[in-house]
Amino acid sequence: MFTSWKLGRIAGIDVFVHPTFLLLLLLPEVWSGGFVTLFLVASAFGCVLLHEFGHALMARRFGIETEDITLYPIGGVARLRRLPRAPGAELAIALAGPAVNFAIVGVLLLLGAMGLGVLLDDANLRVTAMFLDNLLLVNLGLGLFNLIPAFPMDGGRVLRALLSGFVSRSQATSIAAGLGRALALAFGIAALLVTHNMLHVALAAFIYLASRAEEWQVLEDEQRRRVSSTPPEGMWTAPPGYHWVRAGKDVWQLAPIVVTYQQRPHPRPSSWS
Ligand SMILES: [Zn+2]
Repeated sequence: MFTSWKLGRIAGIDVFVHPTFLLLLLLPEVWSGGFVTLFLVASAFGCVLLHEFGHALMARRFGIETEDITLYPIGGVARLRRLPRAPGAELAIALAGPAVNFAIVGVLLLLGAMGLGVLLDDANLRVTAMFLDNLLLVNLGLGLFNLIPAFPMDGGRVLRALLSGFVSRSQATSIAAGLGRALALAFGIAALLVTHNMLHVALAAFIYLASRAEEWQVLEDEQRRRVSSTPPEGMWTAPPGYHWVRAGKDVWQLAPIVVTYQQRPHPRPSSWS
């Protein structure tokens, strides 16, 4: 498809912007308020980038590196080398993104409480005060939207991490992904029939497809894991051409080894929005 443009490298992670990002400039809303609105849109995407770095740097604490971060017109995506399997790590990495936005909200509220708004008003800098108000709302929206408990939002990962104490990882993924698709369908139909907002229709389609892709990838990984899992110590070695396959809790089965020639040199990175 399109090749993304590299913006730079921050904390050892390449940052790209996707060419479709220019589509934003076609929206009349972006131009309606002149320079101030343009600057607000740019700042909003700066906050999206900080959100992604929240995920990436928290992932690094758990030994997971990030391939790159790409900005799209509907948000950012951090491609982690692998998905965390431990629910604690997944929970921390998922919450780190929205936490960045809530931290920005906190700082702006604190500045407001310290009288920055009044100060700006007195200095006839109402535009700056309004800009900061809008930036606060943008970050509040980003934090809350990402906490919706459905894939591919961060809330979907939070839900999976919380559910994995009760059901299997595959089941927890299917529940969060199913919720994501149901919400995307409802949102897409409402956008098409009620608000006629094509950007919202595109967002709904993206959420629908991304939740499906996430589910497939996790189910495929779990399947591969089951096949390649090693039996506990003390069990006899599988005869040539066969390997042990977990068939249930404490149940193992011998299965013929299947060889595929289409092997990937590296595991596929996992997208994290
Ligand atoms: Zn996120």
